Amino acid sequence: MKDCIFCKIISGEISSNFEYEDENMVIIKDINPQAKIHLLLIPKKHFSNLMSLTEEETKIISLCLNKLSHIYLDLGLEKGFRIVCNSGVDARQSVYHLHIHILGGEVLSDKMG
Ligand code: 5GP
Ligand code: ZN
Repeated sequence: MKDCIFCKIISGEISSNFEYEDENMVIIKDINPQAKIHLLLIPKKHFSNLMSLTEEETKIISLCLNKLSHIYLDLGLEKGFRIVCNSGVDARQSVYHLHIHILGGEVLSDKMG
């Protein structure tokens, strides 16, 4: 989608190192890390967030999470990780191309809100 920063990263219009890539998603490092390891899992298909998902979008997320469950060791997350998917204004979503934050590499705060 035009004017979407994550679409531009996925297409290569904005250069970025992919920590992982397959037919459904890329994983990149967050530019402003909130934990020792802070990655963004970004589906290649543009859709906004977790609000009113289509069946196809639901399937893509499922495939992405299944893949994460098999590659987390390669990402340095052997001791565990947290995923966050900000959706909408109250969650302070700032980029409206769905992405899943992956946080880890250290013991995380017990505060989630
Ligand atoms: P949100 O607030 O929408 O859940 O998260 C957006 C995230 O994208 C933020 O954590 C922000 O640091 C990250 N981000 C925004 N622009 C870029 C960028 O150009 N490159 C990378 N790697 N991360 C970005
Ligand atoms: Zn996009």
